[in-house]
Amino acid sequence: MGKSSKDKRDAYYRLAKEQGWRARSAFKLLQLDEEFNLFEGVTRVVDLCAAPGSWSQVLSRILIKGERIGRATWEDKRYAELLKIQPQDSAHEQPPRPEPRKDVKIVAIDLQPMSPLEGITCLKADITHPSTIPLLLRALDPSYSAETSSIEASHPVDLVISDGAPDVTGLHDLDIYVQSQLLWAALNLALCVLKLGGRFVAKIFRGKDVDILYAQLKCVFARVEVAKPRSSRASSVEAFIVCTDFRPPEGFKASLDNPLQQIKPTTSSADSEQTRTVRDDGITELHLPQTDPNRWIAPFLACGDLSAFDADASHKLPEGHVSLDPVQPPTAPPYRRALEERKKMGGAYGKTKLGGGGG
Ligand code: SAM
Repeated sequence: MGKSSKDKRDAYYRLAKEQGWRARSAFKLLQLDEEFNLFEGVTRVVDLCAAPGSWSQVLSRILIKGERIGRATWEDKRYAELLKIQPQDSAHEQPPRPEPRKDVKIVAIDLQPMSPLEGITCLKADITHPSTIPLLLRALDPSYSAETSSIEASHPVDLVISDGAPDVTGLHDLDIYVQSQLLWAALNLALCVLKLGGRFVAKIFRGKDVDILYAQLKCVFARVEVAKPRSSRASSVEAFIVCTDFRPPEGFKASLDNPLQQIKPTTSSADSEQTRTVRDDGITELHLPQTDPNRWIAPFLACGDLSAFDADASHKLPEGHVSLDPVQPPTAPPYRRALEERKKMGGAYGKTKLGGGGG
């Protein structure tokens, strides 16, 4: 059972293992970057909920090693053939390699311990806990002090990314609620450390009141978009908010207890009509009549090139296919105790009561 369901997994799952990514989510970040050029001018980054570390791997390779990882770098012609899609022409896609950047600092935070990665400071901490912020600021600058450091020194970060997800229960409303709490914590933390003009990218589950969140984000970021990378399964409610140009209103002070709640979007008379604005990049923003100023629809973008591999498509495996082990097995998985207990009780318990031996 385990084997056959594993063998049905999509091209991104297999590519991740073959190319050494710790998780298939690496492709989500790469495709978001393809669309939004997330790393332009960035040297201080915080990766929240980072374990097992595939997003940190992307950061390390692009920012520290100076690699350019476009679609032609990771796409694999074998899968393109199996999925019957046209692979990207690498000759025209590969731009020149950028130089590694100077003085890059990347901090990765997770509740779980994370195996080390070149150039990344890993912190085992809870992003919902206020003590994590000074810990993070000291990891970026050991001389940081809450009492004596300037406002600029306490807002040194160019980009905060968060792929946070609680253990999914399968109860839709509960999962969406817990995920939204994690998102608030990530946003809260971002507001406390981002410099003016900074960016925030985070996973969201699109629940029924998500437009309230967009409206609030729009009060502190000049641009707010929602994106669905090609590598994120269409069947999942997951998407990513991409917030650019951090511009809090005058006098705004991030509050750990009350993130963004103090900001109330305002209406003007112009808001009572539906209007369209076309941005510099050609994207149209639709402004609905604002009977409720707390609601705003963010532009929604599918990204990662629509002709790229489809995350919902499985394919027949090639002759002689060998399943690979995970690149980075979990260092301290929450299910370890259950496995140990099962072992102590002898395989028979596992096989009869837990239906074990799935592989
Ligand atoms: N972006 C990661 C990658 O590319 O490897 C995958 C992240 S995984 C989907 C979600 C992570 O969120 C888990 O490792 C989990 O431990 C972490 N997480 C959940 N709640 C957290 C919290 N309160 N503080 C820190 N990390 C948390």
